[in-house]
Amino acid sequence: MGRPYRRYLCRVCGYIYDEAKGDPDGSLPPGTRFEDIPDDWECPDCGMRKVELDLLEEGDDGGGSPKIRTGSARPQDPGPGQDPHPVVIVGAGMAGWAVAEGVRAQDEGRAITLVTQCNGDVYYKPQLSAAAARGRGPDELIQATGEDKARALGVNLLARTRALRIDTDRRRLITPRGGIPFGDLVLACGARQPRPRLAGDAAGDVLQVNDLADYRRLRERVDVHDSARVFILGAGLIGCEFAEDLSGAGHAVTLVDIAERPLARLLPVPLSADLALALDDKGVALHMGRTVDAVDRAADGGYRVMLDDGGVVAADVVVSALGLIPNTYLATRAGLSVGQGIQVDGQLRTSDPGIRALGDCSEHTGHLLPYVQPLKAQAQVIAACLAGERDHYTPEPGTVRIKTPSCRLAVWTPWQEGVWREEAHDEQGRTLVHYSGEAVTGFALSGRHVRQAPKLERQVQAGRDRGVA
Ligand SMILES: Cc1cc2nc3c(=O)[nH]c(=O)nc-3n(C[C@H](O)[C@H](O)[C@H](O)COP(=O)(O)OP(=O)(O)OC[C@H]3O[C@@H](n4cnc5c(N)ncnc54)[C@H](O)[C@@H]3O)c2cc1C
Repeated sequence: MGRPYRRYLCRVCGYIYDEAKGDPDGSLPPGTRFEDIPDDWECPDCGMRKVELDLLEEGDDGGGSPKIRTGSARPQDPGPGQDPHPVVIVGAGMAGWAVAEGVRAQDEGRAITLVTQCNGDVYYKPQLSAAAARGRGPDELIQATGEDKARALGVNLLARTRALRIDTDRRRLITPRGGIPFGDLVLACGARQPRPRLAGDAAGDVLQVNDLADYRRLRERVDVHDSARVFILGAGLIGCEFAEDLSGAGHAVTLVDIAERPLARLLPVPLSADLALALDDKGVALHMGRTVDAVDRAADGGYRVMLDDGGVVAADVVVSALGLIPNTYLATRAGLSVGQGIQVDGQLRTSDPGIRALGDCSEHTGHLLPYVQPLKAQAQVIAACLAGERDHYTPEPGTVRIKTPSCRLAVWTPWQEGVWREEAHDEQGRTLVHYSGEAVTGFALSGRHVRQAPKLERQVQAGRDRGVA
């Protein structure tokens, strides 16, 4: 007989490993000593490795208080009378809240738990790149706090809680607060921006803006200057919108992209050229066909941004906006089908039919649709399906309206081969229509021509209904 059995506490989720009991589900028979646990063993509740477990001092259970405590309540299995099939949603962005609203509208009694690593506050994310010029601060964008919204909807909100893993066998979402049983799981965990690989002693100071907390950091750095020198790497949708908005708020903006023109992947050449002219007129310094090698600290407290052609730009704030990568980690780890995003069918089901996905993290027939309009339609379909109805989501590009007031733009990106034809061009803007054969399969409009969007949408949809688009 060796030393008495000991117990160890997972500092991530509060699970206690008791050597006397072992973890038979994890192939550790009763009596397995901590030192004999293989390094690749995973905590059954949160998936952490044994290095995350701390020794509990003897006598810590029952009467005495453990010396190491998590302090957090752990979700329990549903008790008698509780909904045995709760809907668990991961993510409190627009997609997560839209699903919660939809499910609640369908069923007043269904238990809904929303797990999110942010604080859950409700805001309209597109406003992040249109608030500064209107003099609106981050707090003014909040429509409701997470707590208030959860109370109004009767949702159990677990804010500041990261979902770590999905236990598909035991139908549990594993979090640092423990495992949360689910009947249906909905992944609305969004996307993140890739970090640029940069040299320089200030590379770590480069900001990215993809949520309200990021935006708060940006405004804190910008608002201390009457006219901040803002350097933006990436002239895609988010980069162009921030360039326009921050210059509209009186800041001196430099916009850099490896492409030859702004919004090159979204817009046909003439509209992209119009946008470049409009940004230039507005005072935005454009460096197209360029990228950044390094960001260094400058003696004046700002930064020296080194371009790949040897140019140097002085800045107070450096922002990178290099597109989005869907958050697929949870799905990949659970063995769900993942391409660019979490792959779903017309009912928004992943390869595990009890797990659905929507919004920026999801992929539909090979396409990512990181916009508001699709996620709203997807949330409605999920809510209907969870209520037992048969509904279907048809993915389509939809009209994307770009918030660059100096050059208003609306585009329906074609998904088919075809040709662009410029159908109108005057001092008020342009109309470009995309044709596959004789069918209208997309359009791109600028200036006052954006008013043509509803008419052209109908033409694209008519073509789709005839099986063209
Ligand atoms: C600046 C900007 C401007 C935009 N402008 C427009 C526009 O004009 N028009 C338009 O249609 N679209 C626009 N978009 C895109 C649109 O805002 C997004 O498509 C939409 O908000 C995505 O919502 P979502 O809920 O899918 O993802 P997100 O808003 O990214 O939400 C994801 C949620 O998941 C949580 N989460 C992630 N991982 C975990 C985890 N492991 N555990 C727990 N929680 C997790 C996050 O905390 C967050 O709450 C813009 C985006 C930005 C950034």
